[in-house]
Amino acid sequence: ATLSVLPELEEKPIFDGEKANLLVRDLRKCFDSGRTKRYEWRVSQLEAISKMLEEREKEITEALYKDLAKPPFEALISEVSQAKSSCNEALKELKHWMKPERVSTSITTFPSSAEIVPEPLGVVLVISTWNFPFLLSIDPVIGAISAGNTVVLKPSEIAPATSSLLANLIEQYLDNSAIRVVEGAVPETTALLEQKWDKILYTGSARIGRIVMAAAAKHLTPVILELGGKCPAVVESDVNLQVTARRIIASKWACNSGQACISVDYIITRKEFAPKLISALKEELEQFFGKDPLESKDMSRIVSPNQFARLVKLLDEDNVSGKIVLGGQRDEKKLKISPTIILDVPEDALVMQDEIFGPIMPIITVDNIEDCYSIIKSRPKPLAAYLFTNNEQLKKDYVDKISSGGMLINDAVIHVATRGLPFGGVEESGMGCYHGKFSFDSFSHRKSVLYRSFDGDSSIRYPPYTPQKEKL
Ligand code: NAD
Repeated sequence: ATLSVLPELEEKPIFDGEKANLLVRDLRKCFDSGRTKRYEWRVSQLEAISKMLEEREKEITEALYKDLAKPPFEALISEVSQAKSSCNEALKELKHWMKPERVSTSITTFPSSAEIVPEPLGVVLVISTWNFPFLLSIDPVIGAISAGNTVVLKPSEIAPATSSLLANLIEQYLDNSAIRVVEGAVPETTALLEQKWDKILYTGSARIGRIVMAAAAKHLTPVILELGGKCPAVVESDVNLQVTARRIIASKWACNSGQACISVDYIITRKEFAPKLISALKEELEQFFGKDPLESKDMSRIVSPNQFARLVKLLDEDNVSGKIVLGGQRDEKKLKISPTIILDVPEDALVMQDEIFGPIMPIITVDNIEDCYSIIKSRPKPLAAYLFTNNEQLKKDYVDKISSGGMLINDAVIHVATRGLPFGGVEESGMGCYHGKFSFDSFSHRKSVLYRSFDGDSSIRYPPYTPQKEKL
């Protein structure tokens, strides 16, 4: 009996500043050897990730189930498949991405030729989050490797099963002299952030984003901050109601229970149209999750008791609880909250202040659909903004007037899967972007190179600056 408790008492070795320093030193040595810069090395690592995704798919979806009760099919389509397509795209396009880009030169440098040569940055850090804990860890790593960097991944401690699986899989499948995982929470991340990196990609809240950026500033390290915000969906009354309802549900409740950075956070619609929209949402929600959604296997749970308590507090505020038109039920043991719709809560309600990041949907009603602009603009710029309408002028105006990280008309969330589009925020929702070629570019330096020969050397540019030269 004494022996069986020993492993639990055994403390994990502390990952402190000294260890972080040694790790970065090793990775820099590896980078300086030039190995990771070679096309063949990059391809070998991408192929290893591809193999890992094929062979270990089941373990990945099981870890996501442990962390979030994420339905296996949802885990497959929203995490594993996305990682596969990211990896396949990199394998297919890498040669092309790595090619220097020829640019034309001017008369000033005649005769000459010029090109932009993408080169890896060096040693990069990826700090990931818990809501899509597999994809949001592996996708930036794919970008960092494609660009020829060495990389440290710090997954989120809030999704421990996925974090530990990532550490095991990366150790087993990838070149550990160049690609490493450090598991841990604040102390470990702080130790990592004290080091000099060549780029940091952070996914998470703006509050911690500020800590990351301040730490990076000490070393003049560039950052990509993938943050969040309140993503609005404006619904005009001319829509296909059933399709709109289904797509909103798919992007909120069937998307990790609303714990997604680009989930619809709140809806704005016309006052007279709201009852129709609510009844369509109710009908489709029942189709999706049955009469008792708390029992549904097709909806993820809330990630932790802390997040559960935060969401319950939003619902139980005095000025909100009376405005619930659907849902509000919760199961503390299962960490589940049923799909909840609240109508016309006051602007100063907590639920309208911060990003909700859960299965609660406020609907704000307006007399004129154009009133949506002032409502959206009164808040920080969101990571995504959505509009549902058939009105072409309204679409044009929305694209023109609303600034957001990304935008999607007549659907929500799935723009993230359009790999030709950069993914990133603006202002409070983040800076920089990644996905596909944008990942490659974000983890590369675009070096300007001008080639000249010794021919055609004109003396015009050299002193002495004679009156004849000045006349030219
Ligand atoms: P978080 O900022 O609390 O945690 C993210 C990471 O930061 C974790 O790895 C954590 O260990 C680390 N961290 C936490 N505290 C730290 C500290 N004091 N110092 C250093 N590191 C620290 O974020 P979260 O709650 O996990 O994520 C929720 C937010 O993330 C939401 O705002 C959401 O919109 C956003 N998000 C954005 C994207 C995107 O792609 N833009 C994707 C998912 C989530």
